[in-house]
Amino acid sequence: MSLKDRIVAEIQATGPMTVARYMELALSDPEEGYYMTRDPLGASGDFITAPEISQIFGELCGIWLAENWYRQNQPEANLVELGPGRGTLMDDVLRATRHALEFHKHIQVHMVETSPILRAMQQEKLKAAHPYITWHERLPEGDRPLFLIANEFFDALPIHQYIGEEERKIIVTENGLEFQPEHGAVRETCPCGIEIVTRIARRIARCGGAALIIDYGYRQGSGDTLQAMRRHRYDKILQEPGKVDLTAHVNFLALAEAAKKAGAKASSVFSQREFLERMGGRMRAERLARPDVLLGYERLVNERQMGGLFLALAITPERTVAPVFEE
Ligand code: SAH
Repeated sequence: MSLKDRIVAEIQATGPMTVARYMELALSDPEEGYYMTRDPLGASGDFITAPEISQIFGELCGIWLAENWYRQNQPEANLVELGPGRGTLMDDVLRATRHALEFHKHIQVHMVETSPILRAMQQEKLKAAHPYITWHERLPEGDRPLFLIANEFFDALPIHQYIGEEERKIIVTENGLEFQPEHGAVRETCPCGIEIVTRIARRIARCGGAALIIDYGYRQGSGDTLQAMRRHRYDKILQEPGKVDLTAHVNFLALAEAAKKAGAKASSVFSQREFLERMGGRMRAERLARPDVLLGYERLVNERQMGGLFLALAITPERTVAPVFEE
């Protein structure tokens, strides 16, 4: 039975389906889930991400992480990436920090990836990048300080949608899958994202470290942000589950609140542009003196493109200030 038929059968058996359940199946079903069956990135794929546009992105993330590690007295630590895609971001992070005060000697690298296809690409790309790299299905527990990066990871996690007090659900009609008709403003929650950020923040509060979360997002009042992408265009959400990328914008204030509640410090929410510019990205791009590098960098910081739509949040221990995030 195809994934769509299984979704229809589940609704017929148990009633209208939440958006979260639908996203979970469409993205992560072991046989036909979107991420489980393909490499969605790049020009020939469905969407492109910052590290695939410019090496400057990953380099600056790496320098930021190493600077935090340095300020916290160079502990034996874990360097973790959530949802590493093709491995490009980690490759750039490791290259940019290769000569940074023995950072490499003091870290173990942990990749959290559920897709077997992307995991294989990451292993190939990173085989000579660091002597200690392991892969996990979920964020591992531990006692070492945690230096973590997540770019376009939280937007792939299942969300719930509400209209008033009612949860928005999906039903089967003679036309196929449809949203149950409801009227009013949509509100979204992402319990899965809150749980992960809580675990990260608790660990950083207890053991030290720093996390950098960058994603498509909003500060408050989202409306309906669920969207489907195929071949760099918007597509239908319910027509072909497993064949299109589904994402929702990330509620950054909710992540920041959860991090504070867990005992860590959450920075104010920056735009990607502010983060990259304050990190000296423009100078770095100009120094490389290649037109393609400058153009790529422009795309990352342009207010009306990724620079404004993407937001950045830093999580660090209480009583520390995250580099460049200070007001
Ligand atoms: N960070 C990369 C890729 C972003 S695409 C970049 O910036 O290019 C989203 C990534 O998250 C993919 O690698 C996908 O397989 C992974 N992913 C999605 N849901 C996941 C989950 N629940 N657990 C772990 N990885 C997940």
